[in-house]
Amino acid sequence: MRKQIVAANWKMNGSSELVRQLVPAVRDSVASLDNAVEVVIMPPSLFASEAKGELAGSPVMLGVQNVARWQSGAYTGELSAAMAADIGCHYALVGHSERRQLFGETDDIAAEKVLRVLESGLAVMLCVGETLEEREAGDAEAVVCRQVEIALSGLDSAAADRVVVAYEPVWAIGTGRTATAEDAQAMHRTLRDRLSDMGLPANEMSLLYGGSVKPDNAGALFAQPDIDGGLIGGASLKADDFIAICQAAV
Ligand code: PEP
Repeated sequence: MRKQIVAANWKMNGSSELVRQLVPAVRDSVASLDNAVEVVIMPPSLFASEAKGELAGSPVMLGVQNVARWQSGAYTGELSAAMAADIGCHYALVGHSERRQLFGETDDIAAEKVLRVLESGLAVMLCVGETLEEREAGDAEAVVCRQVEIALSGLDSAAADRVVVAYEPVWAIGTGRTATAEDAQAMHRTLRDRLSDMGLPANEMSLLYGGSVKPDNAGALFAQPDIDGGLIGGASLKADDFIAICQAAV
């Protein structure tokens, strides 16, 4: 049985007040899910310690949205994977399309970050996904397979149990447009086959869908055989919506 995972990516949103409101609400509702779903909250890093405090004793996990590609040193403003591990995080996102598009993160940089995350003992949530142009040109599968191949090229299969891949079509992120459950399933199948071709234990790896997941479409997406949960942006900022999405993954 693969792990079902629902992760909240708050992006650059929120405040201490939101941490104090939303994190306990999620923590308390998720307690009734009986560990059937692994729930992860990734607030802005400045709020990670406060969120960790709210999660004391809870199975809800904490993650960061980005890490540096270096271990430590003179990189003003950067935060390392080891620092995230030090304050009790479990996950780090790598390769989110906003990092790729707005901050010039290439597949090679994503590969370096994957190694930093795994070296620090954290689990990585690697985001891949094609743009609308790439999809319309018929290149979606090739793009997503290239992204995963390069980013995971240095991966030792023994560490694959700490690797989650999130398929997030760029045209679906924050747009209200969602891939149909059938199209999302087809891409997850392609990804799983590619991971298997890379010598990884693909059938044991959780693959998430991200891109305008809401309470009313989560059930159909999560019911697909190769979709093992979701990475949630906008809807993770509303406790009721995020909790409903977590419940849809059970
Ligand atoms: C995301 O940023 O990872 C995401 C999926 O955003 P949204 O749910 O808002 O589309």
